[in-house]
Amino acid sequence: MRILLVEDDPQLGDGLCVGLRQSGFTVDWLTDGHSADLALQTEPFDLVVLDLGLPRLDGIQVLTRVRARGNSLPVLILTARDSTGDTILGLDSGADDYLVKPVHLDELSARIRALLRRSAGRISPILEVGGLRLDPAAQQVTSHGQAIELQAKEFALLQLLMENAGRVLTRSQIEQALYGWSDEPDSNALEVHIHHLRKKLGRDTIRTLRGVGYTLPK
Ligand code: CA
Repeated sequence: MRILLVEDDPQLGDGLCVGLRQSGFTVDWLTDGHSADLALQTEPFDLVVLDLGLPRLDGIQVLTRVRARGNSLPVLILTARDSTGDTILGLDSGADDYLVKPVHLDELSARIRALLRRSAGRISPILEVGGLRLDPAAQQVTSHGQAIELQAKEFALLQLLMENAGRVLTRSQIEQALYGWSDEPDSNALEVHIHHLRKKLGRDTIRTLRGVGYTLPK
């Protein structure tokens, strides 16, 4: 799941970036509203964590533009303490949720998972396909009851395939979801992750459609 973090406070932004990555998200971080507005028009993010007090374009303006373009992606706003007015304005401008600073990372991660679950139309927090069971919060995977150890990118890839079970994902769709701007994956990185997943989960778990992409059959 690829998240755009927009926060101009360097310390907070860095902390959130590192923490959210540890929670298994692919995170890109921008520090002003104008850059965020541009990025949101070109990159397929799954969710935005948006500070309201930002240089160049404030958070409410970024949010208003996102919704004016008909973009329904989940937006979680970060507001300062004692700013109920900002929170109300944010929610009424199209935000889906908010957190008051100081931000607790565990709470932010949990709210992000809830928003992503809702935007995907899922009820259960646990993903289950065939004998596979994936818990995004605990970052655990079992196959027919057996615990499976996965690297971070393998886990993210499997989660993406499970969320889209039965659908074919193209190589570029997968790469855009899996890698942020600061990642520089080798050209065969995706094949390597697929190879490792098949080794751990069984050869037929993931199917390749030559020249098209990959799918995890339902
Ligand atoms: Ca700020």
